[in-house]
Amino acid sequence: MLDTLAIPTQTTSASRLSQLDLANLEFGKHFSDHMFVVDYQDGEWQNPQILPYGDFTVSPANSALHYGQAIFEGLKAYKNEQGAITIFRPYDNLARMNTSAERMCMPAIPEELFIQGLKQLVRLDAEWVPSAPNTALYIRPFMFATDGMLGVRPSETYRFAIITCPVGAFFGKPLRVRFEEKYVRSAEGGAGFAKNAGNYGAALYPTKLAQDAGYHQLLWTDASQHRFIEESGTMNVAFIINGTLVTPALSTSILDGITRRSVLQIARDWGMPVEERKVAATEVMEAIQNGTLTEAFGIGTAVTIAPITVIGYQGQDYLLPELTSDSFARRVLQALDDIRTGVAPDTHNWIVTI
Ligand SMILES: *Cc1c(COP(=O)(O)O)cnc(C)c1O
Repeated sequence: MLDTLAIPTQTTSASRLSQLDLANLEFGKHFSDHMFVVDYQDGEWQNPQILPYGDFTVSPANSALHYGQAIFEGLKAYKNEQGAITIFRPYDNLARMNTSAERMCMPAIPEELFIQGLKQLVRLDAEWVPSAPNTALYIRPFMFATDGMLGVRPSETYRFAIITCPVGAFFGKPLRVRFEEKYVRSAEGGAGFAKNAGNYGAALYPTKLAQDAGYHQLLWTDASQHRFIEESGTMNVAFIINGTLVTPALSTSILDGITRRSVLQIARDWGMPVEERKVAATEVMEAIQNGTLTEAFGIGTAVTIAPITVIGYQGQDYLLPELTSDSFARRVLQALDDIRTGVAPDTHNWIVTI
């Protein structure tokens, strides 16, 4: 697409780039100099702008604050060895954002605004895209209702914005997770497939209970019987059982992760058997005990692949095998990194260079 949309841009006179300590970055805390903002009013998106990163003013009756009409996305930009900046699968994020918007009675964001806003913002803050191995610029598009009105109905006005933050090399500790058999993240027919803010708010408490008990995250199970695995924390989840990549099939209660989609595609490219189906907790526990389960990992943009080392089940901890250099989790992470940094060919057209 040509860069036809000229977005009025107000650049900062006080860049914070020199204060950035790339070696000590806490995820989501250090924001780049600029943000993209566009407002929805009278049935259309109006007045797109790029502005210095800064606070918003909202009505105390803002309906996102009261009733939760708020959705978001998460994706990353990478700087490769030639200094080019690439973004991973942004059109997939746009499509998912609009799926979330529909579920939450919010207006769709047009492709041109999303993609041009993203590109022009990242171009302007290009120096904020780190280039060391395993670093990236995390991009957070989000939309929220802006009506100042306490009536319960879809807002008539909205704001869409994009903010970004550099993220350092994430050497994730292997995860300790436990099955959640009381609380639910989402139910069939609910809004679990949408990336809406409320899903996260409701997950904090059960997650905190698990963390107090020494785990990092939960393995969510289905809402009606707590028998089938759904996701792990805020990630999708997959297992290698007997050499087959097994992952819960998508449903209205599972978020359709773009990293998940990419991992499944790479496994299929490699000729590996892939099964998307219901995965019972008991199946995973039996496979751990009889040695057929060799790997379990979370999948999502923030960490890409998060290997699981311990699974808690009915009060007992079960230790998973250690990863080897040959493990699928390691190989697929490398394959994704190679595509994102241009080391390997982008055969599925996942990369958008800006
Ligand atoms: C965002 C998200 C994921 C991962 O999606 P990606 O597109 O791979 O980042 C998985 N589960 C939940 C609940 C999420 O919100």
